[in-house]
Amino acid sequence: MLLEQEKDEIVGFGKKLIASNLTTGSGGNLSLFNRREGLVAIGPSGIDYFDVRPEDVVVINVDGEIVEGRCKPSSELNFHLSLYRKRSDINAVVHTHSVYATTIACLNREIPAVHYLVAFSGKKVPLAPYATFGTEALARNVSESIGDYNAVLLANHGLVTVGPDMSSAFSTAEEIEFVARVYYQTKCIGDPVILPEYQMARVIKKFETYGQKKD
Ligand code: 13P
Ligand code: ZN
Repeated sequence: MLLEQEKDEIVGFGKKLIASNLTTGSGGNLSLFNRREGLVAIGPSGIDYFDVRPEDVVVINVDGEIVEGRCKPSSELNFHLSLYRKRSDINAVVHTHSVYATTIACLNREIPAVHYLVAFSGKKVPLAPYATFGTEALARNVSESIGDYNAVLLANHGLVTVGPDMSSAFSTAEEIEFVARVYYQTKCIGDPVILPEYQMARVIKKFETYGQKKD
């Protein structure tokens, strides 16, 4: 079986997506790009996350052709591939319908620097214009809107996060949902104070050395 480790991660993090309340039903999807092998592992379309088995994860080559797997791949394969083609630092893509990020996306607004943890994305979370799910048009909108950010809202749809690996893309999805919730709540009772660019630049710099050193 190809990409065994990647398939196991997609199954495991899929369950975490539901357990962490980041999506409902079979909404959202996950993929990993193994650049050494030039192959992408992506979850199957429309299957409950707790029913997905490693052999249901589909392996695709860089041209978008199925190399292994009997299931139909996620309907959002197009935007997953477009992100891997656009940026060489991206090896994992997480798509969620998390409630607060989706709420802001349905207002067709970006998420500003209302809390310093927006730095998981960058100085803000940009917004990709609406297009029907699963289309080339949505893939184009996502890859044109992400810039150097690690997260992008999909208008009237949800959130996409990216990272060098799955645990980093997943953490970004969790933290951006927190920031989206804080943004929503502050708007409910007043006018949130947005951090200026220079403050966000400091946070982004500090994030480079935050936590335990990896060897
Ligand atoms: P899939 O089940 O095809 O991955 O689609 C879910 C989704 O979120 C579409 O945007
Ligand atoms: Zn979706």
